[in-house]
Amino acid sequence: MSVTEKLLALHRVDQKLTGLKSRLRQAEAYLRQQDTILSEIQKTHASLTSQVRQLEATVHNDQNEINAFDDRIAKLRERMQTASSSKEHSALLTEMNTIKADRGLIETRAVEALEQLDALKAKLAEIDAQRLEREKVRGVAAQDRDKRHTDIAEKVSELEAERERVLTEVPPSAITAYNELLELGLDDVMATVEEQDRRNKEYSCGACYTHLPVEQLNILMNRGDLTKCPTCGVILYLEQDLFDSITSDAEKKRKRRTMETLD
Ligand SMILES: [Zn+2]
Repeated sequence: MSVTEKLLALHRVDQKLTGLKSRLRQAEAYLRQQDTILSEIQKTHASLTSQVRQLEATVHNDQNEINAFDDRIAKLRERMQTASSSKEHSALLTEMNTIKADRGLIETRAVEALEQLDALKAKLAEIDAQRLEREKVRGVAAQDRDKRHTDIAEKVSELEAERERVLTEVPPSAITAYNELLELGLDDVMATVEEQDRRNKEYSCGACYTHLPVEQLNILMNRGDLTKCPTCGVILYLEQDLFDSITSDAEKKRKRRTMETLD
């Protein structure tokens, strides 16, 4: 087996693994999306809760102030009943009117705050409902992720074991080259050589479709050493059919030449 063939065996296993895990990856991405949405909802929830608490405290303080005004008004009323002169009565009345005006301002503020509080509480209830709903969706997404994980677990561990076996066959320098391409995040780290025109020796890279120098085809045809596309850098390989067909053509040519020499 040539280095290229060994790498191809590794690549085939990796392709199977990627294919097998693709539905799991989708489920994981969906779950992450739900987590993001849920965390946004929770942030809004926390902010609304803190606004509600502040406003409740304001309303409570206003209520205390109003109660204090009411006490003072009740006391002034008592004093007015026992006022010894009309001058004292009139002074007490002025004081009471001032207090009533102040009380009115606080009451208006408290009513507004209460209205605001009702609106905030309604919004909070809405967010609560959204949170519950989203938690359900997240729960289903997590179950789905787990199920997909379980479904493929056995096959994945089989393939991983196979990968380990295949890996022991590949020379370390080729593994390094292969891993470097994997780390670049390429979809396919290996690509076939595609034949455009055999007579004119025109071949191209199956990944970037760029014309390949004939030397690279020769390396793959002969020793099968690690060969990269000079343009996009993927590791090249020949499909067995193409390899066989080129070999048999070359064989025919060789025979024809022998015959011609014999004539
Ligand atoms: Zn290429």
